[in-house]
Amino acid sequence: MSDSSAQDPVFDTSPVAPGTCLRLSPGIRRIVAGNGSPFTFTGTCSYIVGSGKVAVIDPGPDIPAHRDALLEALRGETVTHIVVSHTHRDHSPGAHALQEATGAVIVGCSPHREARALAAGETDTLEASGDRDYRPDAEMHEGDTIEGPSWRLVALETPGHMANHLCFAFPEEQALFSADHVMAWATTVIAPPAGSMNDFMNSLDKLRGRDETVYWPGHGGPVRDPQRFVRALHHHRRQREASILARIAAGDQRIEEIVQAIYVGLNPMLRGAAGLSVFAHLEDLAMRGLVRTDGMPSLTGEYRPA
Ligand SMILES: [Zn+2]
Repeated sequence: MSDSSAQDPVFDTSPVAPGTCLRLSPGIRRIVAGNGSPFTFTGTCSYIVGSGKVAVIDPGPDIPAHRDALLEALRGETVTHIVVSHTHRDHSPGAHALQEATGAVIVGCSPHREARALAAGETDTLEASGDRDYRPDAEMHEGDTIEGPSWRLVALETPGHMANHLCFAFPEEQALFSADHVMAWATTVIAPPAGSMNDFMNSLDKLRGRDETVYWPGHGGPVRDPQRFVRALHHHRRQREASILARIAAGDQRIEEIVQAIYVGLNPMLRGAAGLSVFAHLEDLAMRGLVRTDGMPSLTGEYRPA
C-alpha cells in the first residue's frame, strides 16, 4: 500500500516529568517511572484508569520508588486490575510487587515470546530486555474486556514491536492506550526475533479508521490526531524501506553499511537499535521476495537485490 499523499510524522518531544501523578482527563491519571533513557524517553508511563475502583496500565519497571508513588496516588482507592501491554522490562516487571501490595489481578498480554523461531546459531541476546518472569492471572486477547464502575478497557492485539503486544481501547473517552505500538515522541523499535516489521505494519493498518481521538502511549505525551499520525508513521516506514532497497541496489550488503548511510546524525547509543530496525526491514523484504540473502535473514548476513 503506498501513501504518496502522506506527510512525515511530526514527533512531539516535550518531556513528561517522572514522579508526580498528573490528571490527564476525567478518567485517566498518569505517573511516569524514573527510568528515563534514549530508549524510554523520560520513563515509562503508568496510567490509572477510573476512580475508586481502578485499573493500572503498565506498572512499569520494578522500581520501589515508582510502586510507592502509585500506591501514594491511590491511597483510599482499590486497584482491581493490573493491566500489562507487553513484556519489555520497562513495562511489566512492576506487576508482581504491585499485586503483592494491592491484591489486584494481573491481566493483559500473554507471557513473553518471540515473533518467530530462533534461527540456527541465533541467540536470544537481542532479547535481553524481555521479561520472562511475567505470568498474568488471565491473558487478554482480541476484543477481551475488563471493566470497573465507570470504565471499560478492550484489548486490541497489535503485534510488531513485540509478538504479545496489546493496545487497550477506553471507549468512555474515545481513547486508546497505545503502549509502544504508536508513540508521539519517536518511532517504535522493531527488533527481531521478538519484533516483526511485517506484523508491525499490519498492526498499524489495523488502527486505520478507528474512532479514537487521542492515544496515550507507553512513553511521552499523547498523540492528538491519531489517524493522521498513523498514516504518517506508515509513510515513514515505507520511505525507510525504500532507502534500504536503494542502498542494496547501490551495492551495500551488510546492515552496518546501510545504517551508516541512512541514519545520519544518529545518537551512538541508538546504533544497535538502528541495526535491528534495518534487520527487521530486511527480514520483511526477504519474506516478500524483494531482497535475497543466504539462508534465514540474520543480523550478520549479506543482502543482495532480488
Ligand atoms: Zn517495549
